[in-house]
Amino acid sequence: MSPLRVAVVGSGPAGTFCAEILSEDTGHEVQVDVFERLPTPFGLVRYGVAPDHQKIKSIVESLTEVYESPSVRFLGNVTVGSDITIDELRAHYDAVVLACGAPLNRQLGVPGEELPGVVAARNFVSWYSGHPDASFDTSVLTADRAVVVGVGNVALDVARMLVRTPDELRRTDVPEHVVDALGGHSIRKVYIVGRRGPAHAKFTNKEFLELAGVEGADVLVSPDDLELSEEDRAHVAVKPATARLLASLGKVAARAPLGRERSVRFLFHRTPVEFAGAGAVGTVRLTHTSRPENVEDLAAGLVLPAVGYRGVAMGGVPFDEASGTIPHRDSRVVDGERPLPGLYAVGWVKRGPSGVIGTNRLCAAETAGALLADASSLIGTGSGREGIDALLRSRGVAVVDWSRWRAIEAAEASLGAAGGRGRVKLHDRTDMLIAAGVAA
Ligand SMILES: Cc1cc2nc3c(=O)[nH]c(=O)nc-3n(C[C@H](O)[C@H](O)[C@H](O)COP(=O)(O)OP(=O)(O)OC[C@H]3O[C@@H](n4cnc5c(N)ncnc54)[C@H](O)[C@@H]3O)c2cc1C
Repeated sequence: MSPLRVAVVGSGPAGTFCAEILSEDTGHEVQVDVFERLPTPFGLVRYGVAPDHQKIKSIVESLTEVYESPSVRFLGNVTVGSDITIDELRAHYDAVVLACGAPLNRQLGVPGEELPGVVAARNFVSWYSGHPDASFDTSVLTADRAVVVGVGNVALDVARMLVRTPDELRRTDVPEHVVDALGGHSIRKVYIVGRRGPAHAKFTNKEFLELAGVEGADVLVSPDDLELSEEDRAHVAVKPATARLLASLGKVAARAPLGRERSVRFLFHRTPVEFAGAGAVGTVRLTHTSRPENVEDLAAGLVLPAVGYRGVAMGGVPFDEASGTIPHRDSRVVDGERPLPGLYAVGWVKRGPSGVIGTNRLCAAETAGALLADASSLIGTGSGREGIDALLRSRGVAVVDWSRWRAIEAAEASLGAAGGRGRVKLHDRTDMLIAAGVAA
């Protein structure tokens, strides 16, 4: 019997977990090709998870093992949609799994959002993570104050990165220009503004404690913001994790400021209603959520909205604009009510931007389960991966395979060693391709 041939689009956790599950002993011989638009694998594990979260990033070791299996290939530096189309993949493989994540930023819908100095947190994250397509104008770091909008873990990540000391940054893998820019910027006050109150904040106690323990800044919480309504109390009573977070917030609120040069202040129950300024943002107008007549103007030259993400439509694939995801039924992509044979979705593009890395493993198990349940009707419907290899060659696509990615990793280790640091990321695509040996 011929093998089940599967193409996965995207090498983030969702796509990699899916490849892993498919390549395990499933009762079928399975060949999996994972296509990735970047020369580097692992999606947001490399370009989202904060650089000072090296423990979380150690998941890379188990993700790496997936690509060392003889039945899984990595085809990096191949953009599905331009280098190769979805229809071409569907013609050559028995099944295609879409695992392309949620790369677009959600908008706040607040007047002035388009002003220079208002920068989606994801762009800032991409820049400090060394993403090759990051666009971030470092001149905004000359501001004195920054406002982070949102009370999720990403909001706390970006606030923490703004107050890390150069020594702390040097212990991570961020590129040297990021150490220079973040280590020497002039932002002294960072505000984290949340519409929600502390009982409904989305960040975890662990993230909060980490921020509260930074060396370079005072972390400030106002006791007034911690007063709970009846409804809040009922909510907390059944949420022990929230009760622990409130206890930590309470301890920090009771702490006397240490007089450090930098500070991070939480402002709960506030909504930004306008960003204003002549030529660039200078003021954020906030209203109090339950007392809209309470208006505050906060001076700030940098605003980082961290309010969520959405997927991006891909030619030939149905897309739900409202949710920013690919419509599916039990992981099978549908066009209206009609399932599209052999087309599946997994991860953030399937369920939206929620959950931690491990959530994608459960999601991948569902998707792989649906695909394997359909296997008998799929096997033999694709013409084979050889045709795809020939197509990519004929189009001059410089594929970065697994051994070439390993060469990029080696170059990053050498770069770090040369600067007296651990591994340091390459951030320029051409440098990556040179290190991979596919460009001169
Ligand atoms: C800033 C940030 C910090 C986070 N920190 C943590 C954390 O500390 N701990 C934690 O557990 N979770 C964290 N998460 C959540 C976690 O990263 C996600 O749950 C997970 O990455 C989603 O996996 P995914 O594979 O669906 O998407 P992604 O990780 O986004 O992977 C999608 C991949 O598809 C590729 N791709 C997209 N389009 C194409 C195309 N056309 N052709 C080929 N390839 C394509 C992309 O380049 C990317 O590599 C964080 C998320 C963000 C945004």
